[in-house]
Order: sequence, then C-alpha cells, then structure tokens
Amino acid sequence: MTEKYEAVIGLEVHAQLLTETKLFCSCSNKFGDPPNTNVCPVCLGHPGALPVLNKKAVEFAVLMGLAVNCKINKKSVFARKNYFYPDLPKGYQISQFEEPLCESGFVEIKSHAGKNKVRIKRIHIEEDAGKLIHDRGGNSLVDFNRSGTPLIEIVSEPDIRTPEEASEYLKTLRTILTYLGICDGNMEEGSLRCDANISVRLKGAEKLGTRTEVKNMNSFKNVEKALRFEIERQAEILDDGGEIVQETLLWDADNNEARSMRGKEESHDYRYFPEPDLIPLKISDEWIEKIKDTMPELHFKRKERFLKEYLLPEYDAEVLTSEKALADYFEKAVTNSTDYKAVSNWIMSEVLKVCNQEKISIQAFPIPPENLGELIALISKGKISGKIAKDVFEEMLHSPKSPGQIVEEKNLAQISDSSEIQKAVEKIINNFPAQVEQFKTGKEKVLGFLVGQVMRETKGKANPQLVNKLLLEELKK
Ligand code: ADP
Ligand code: MG
Ligand code: ZN
Repeated sequence: MTEKYEAVIGLEVHAQLLTETKLFCSCSNKFGDPPNTNVCPVCLGHPGALPVLNKKAVEFAVLMGLAVNCKINKKSVFARKNYFYPDLPKGYQISQFEEPLCESGFVEIKSHAGKNKVRIKRIHIEEDAGKLIHDRGGNSLVDFNRSGTPLIEIVSEPDIRTPEEASEYLKTLRTILTYLGICDGNMEEGSLRCDANISVRLKGAEKLGTRTEVKNMNSFKNVEKALRFEIERQAEILDDGGEIVQETLLWDADNNEARSMRGKEESHDYRYFPEPDLIPLKISDEWIEKIKDTMPELHFKRKERFLKEYLLPEYDAEVLTSEKALADYFEKAVTNSTDYKAVSNWIMSEVLKVCNQEKISIQAFPIPPENLGELIALISKGKISGKIAKDVFEEMLHSPKSPGQIVEEKNLAQISDSSEIQKAVEKIINNFPAQVEQFKTGKEKVLGFLVGQVMRETKGKANPQLVNKLLLEELKK
C-alpha cells in the first residue's frame, strides 16, 4: 500500500459452540456425521415446529462475554433475519439484533506498537445454516446437519490497523475460545470463521472510508493475504481518483484474489423483527455468578503462572501457553522432569518441528508428554547424552516404548566409567600421533578432533566431560 493510506479493519467472527445438541432442538451437534442424519422438524424448518433455547449455548456465550470483558445484558432478544437461500429452509435465521447478549468488551493483542486493545462491539447468539455441497457433476446438494447448530458472533469495533494485527486478533480469540473449551477453533472445518470489513483512509484522517466486506478466508494466512490484497486494491482505486463501492467480496485462495460476490446488503434488507416464538432471554445476577465460577484459567494467567512457577523466559511462556493443548503437554511432561527449561526447549524445538513437518496438532503428536519428561530426566541424570537422546526421541516417534526401555534394550546408556573411557582415550592417542604432536606444539584446536574420535570410538555413549578431562590429562603427560 502506498505510504499515504492507513487501513481500518473490523472483524466479524463466528464461533461454533461445542454443545451436545443444536441451538433450538435436541438434534446432535456432532461434526462429520453422514449428511442429513441429525435433523428434525425444528431444524428442517417445518411449519409450526417451535424452537426451545439450549441453556448450555447461553452459558457458553456468557462465558465468552465475561472472558473478553463484555457487559452481559440481563435481557436480550432473539430476532428473525430474513433471507432466501437453499440451505436455510425456514427462510430466516434466528439471531439477535437490537438487544444482543453481550456488549462493549475488549481484548488485548500483541501488535507492532507493542500491545493494542481491540474493542468488542457485541457478541450475540445465532443459529447456523445448512451446508451446500457442490459436486463435480455440477449438482448442488444440501446437508442440514449443520442447520440450527449454535454460533456466537463476535463483532469488533474498527480498531485493527494492519493484516498482521487482524490475524493476531483472530488468534487471540481462538486461544480464548479453546481455553474456555467452548469451541474447537478449527478454521479448516469452519468451526471458526471470519468476515473482514475493511476500508482505507489518508493517514491522519478521522473519517472512516467506505468499506468492503471480505468473506471465505479459512486460515490465518488467508486472512492476512486477503486483507493485503484488498488494501492494495482500494488504495489503487483512490489513487486513480475513483470511489470504493461498498460490496461483499469472496476470497479466492487458489487465485489469491478477492472477487465481488454481491452488493453490500444493509441491515434493513433483512427485515429483522423480534422472534415471536421465543420470549426474551433473561439472565439473573446469580446465574452470571454461577457461570463466572466455571471460568477456567485463561492464557494470560497461565503465562504468568508459567513465568513464576517454572521460571521460564517470557518467550517460552508465551509460546507454550499460546495453545491450551500445548500448555497441557508441557505441564504433563514436567511431572517427570524438573528441568523446566530443558522441557520447554525440547517442546519448542523438537516436538513442534515434528508437528510442523507432519502438519499435525500437538494432540496428534505420538510421544506422550510423560515419556518426553522421562527422556529429559535421563539426560539430566547423566544417564544418556543429549546426542543419544535425539536418537531415542526419533525411536519414540515410532514406538510406544518408554525412553528407559529403549535405552536399556539398545544399550545406549552413557559410559561414565573412567576406566572404560581411559581405554578409548589411550587408543585414540596411539592412532593419531600427528594430531597429538600438533596439540603439544600449541595447536590446541585439535582437541576437538580428538574428543570427536573418542566419542566415535564409544559410539557416542561416553560422558563428554569425562572424555575431555581424561584426554587432557593424557595429552599433558
Ligand atoms: P453490518 O451490520 O452492516 O455488518 P456493523 O456496524 O455491525 O455493520 O459492522 C460490521 C463490522 O464492520 C464491525 O466489525 C465494524 O467494526 C466494521 N466496520 C464498520 N465500519 C467500518 C469501516 N468504515 N471500515 C472498516 N471496518 C468497518
Ligand atoms: Mg456484517
Ligand atoms: Zn433438529
């Protein structure tokens, strides 16, 4: 983007709630079941079928509201949002409009300016639509399993300024949702979706520019890419003296471009009106207090605890607590090793490297955390060297055996017996007279080479400190 402009971004984030059943009926809310098996007259929109609100969905939504510092409205109202689409059999979606459940919160995110507050305008509850599946033969099929599943929509104020901040904000929401255990945060499967509203204005200008809305970005990377594309596009139009048309764009990840989908609808187009089949939702102070009591430790609290309890550096604590499952992994690993920093190092380098390479989540990582802890304890106790530990780690990726068992069976334990190492030292000194001579004439660098040879002789199992010590003694004779 030309230096002249500043981007203004606001996100609408939909999070699918992990309730057992749907929002207004008792159909299962499970993802991935055969199409059209979790349906009933209510979620198929049969005339006369009446919705009954899911209490758990309300509690989850309130929990999110509390976690992002929102005011919880004692009374909120459901509304019909009318539109036609083949995946919406009722012809309207039950949502909340004028009186949402939560309002006026904020989250703190990391940004180029250090920290930034993004204000939350509102959080409301709504039901999802079904899902259209466009097959290769040009047919469109509809699966109503998703119809009526509970969502919360989290709407931010236009406080975001860069694509990186947008993705950081989204990551923060994902972290909070997964720590609360109310959404699985899976963007590929669509349990976490995001629409981005974006405009540009001259730097220093107060007035907001005309915005467009970009939909259909199913990863953090795509959110950033789509926003970069759209900022660029708007800046070019303004540079050419043109005007931005308010419209809805669809991000095409295959071609890296945003395409116009439809003119922007206004809220009055939906003819919102209060849902006549549901009474206003009333929440008592006692109920809110009860929900508060179920609030788990959130990421920022857990990070503070990691700093204090495990004396980890800021960076480590940040990475480890960024994902609940990763923090859980760490805490299980340290039940077997009190060398907290070593456990952190192993997770951040070796474990996450495998997860990235194999494109798997920490939940799918094959080594149980307790076993990793045990492996690290073996190093701390001097039972194996760090180098051998890497080999054992490789083995553990493919075997359910404990590290102790592997070390035992493969006879990998470190040699700390001086007489055995002494033998190897003497052998190497005999085999490499030239290098020994070099050392004696002051070229101390060859020590490294000789240590390497002794390690090789002992198949990497000799205690390196002991090798150094014995070798030096022998060379100085
Ligand atoms: P609508 O209901 O039409 O989608 P909202 O007022 O609820 O409109 O805003 C939707 C999102 O768009 C919010 O996240 C808001 O912060 C953002 N937004 C509003 N105006 C602008 C603008 N001019 N530029 C960028 N984002 C904006
Ligand atoms: Mg909108
Ligand atoms: Zn149903």
